[in-house]
Amino acid sequence: MAIARGYAATDASKPLEPFTFERREPREDDVVISIKYCGVCHSDIHQARNEWGGSIYPMVPGHEVAGIVTAVGPNVTKFKIGDHVGVGCFVDSCVHCASRDVDVEQYMPGLVQTYNSVEADGTTPTYGGYSDSMVVKEGYVLSIPENLPLDRAAPLLCAGITLYSPLAHWKAGPGKKVAVIGMGGLGHMGVKIGAAMGADVTVLSQSLSKKDDGLAFGANAYYATSDAETFKTLAGTFDLILCTVSAEIDWNAYLSLLKVDGAMVLLGVPENPVPVHAFSLIGGRRTLAGSMIGSIKETQEMLDFCGKHDILPEIELIDIKDINEAYERVIKSDVRYRFVIDMATLPKA
Ligand code: NAP
Ligand code: ZN
Repeated sequence: MAIARGYAATDASKPLEPFTFERREPREDDVVISIKYCGVCHSDIHQARNEWGGSIYPMVPGHEVAGIVTAVGPNVTKFKIGDHVGVGCFVDSCVHCASRDVDVEQYMPGLVQTYNSVEADGTTPTYGGYSDSMVVKEGYVLSIPENLPLDRAAPLLCAGITLYSPLAHWKAGPGKKVAVIGMGGLGHMGVKIGAAMGADVTVLSQSLSKKDDGLAFGANAYYATSDAETFKTLAGTFDLILCTVSAEIDWNAYLSLLKVDGAMVLLGVPENPVPVHAFSLIGGRRTLAGSMIGSIKETQEMLDFCGKHDILPEIELIDIKDINEAYERVIKSDVRYRFVIDMATLPKA
């Protein structure tokens, strides 16, 4: 067993603190990764604070992992020492179930999340990327294109794929009008990736305070949802709306912005159910859908797409000792646009 250093939540109400734990000895198909950077996703906060229930403590959050391969097991063929790699939201998935589909394995039972989960043995806890190293099965390791710096590439592993997947699935591209609700960590990647796919992207934000950024990221239009006129002006406009907000907003109002046959896809996770009126859907053959991250195959496709188009998240690099303050700032939407932890700042053992 190798000793790893990291930061952990020990309880829903306590700040994260330094934590030492063990990583398994690499097996034949494992890749050992020296973690250089890890993005701070709003889901880390939801789970560290047990906002979705069932949190497992101590919890080392982090599923936007970027690092360098330091060792590989004898059966590993895709990676070698020195490679730039990433790990996203899951590190294993079911291999036995009848409905197994490796192209949508994020929706299959048996998914093992990168943290706040247990391995396939049903007992060993998984620990995430707020740490110095990780041991991951080859099939769950992603290759990060060499032209993407690791610090800025890290948030692609969750924020990037979470937006890429629905944009690709609902065929965003030339001639399609796409709206992104909320321009935070996820939302700003929706703008960049959607624009690179050729779609006409509009940001629906609480205010116009980030308008210049949104237009610079590739949006064609930017509206404040605090202004009631926005909903009148944009009624019946969009083919696709991606909602990245985790607060309880009026989905009926946003559904009215869809064209006939348009789809609104939920990505953010509000704590409480949000009521939807049947007429919001019936009156336009509209779809209300959800989407969760993406498969390993699609995540690699997204990384290659971002490498080809030089698409990178906007980040604020932080010292790990500032993680608790960073959480507070994410909650206040006071981050431009993703915090990324510089793992070189981990305290020495
Ligand atoms: P984030 O950086 O905090 O961004 C959320 C954005 O929502 C904010 O920047 C803000 O944008 C908007 N917002 C915040 N409070 C709001 C309010 N009260 N009313 C309306 N809008 C509000 O968070 P994130 O990391 O992007 O994650 C967003 C959500 O997606 C979280 O719930 C997270 O757990 C979830 N998530 C889902 C998946 C998935 O696979 N489906 C993957 C990762 C994360 P404006 O300032 O522009 O309004
Ligand atoms: Zn995430």
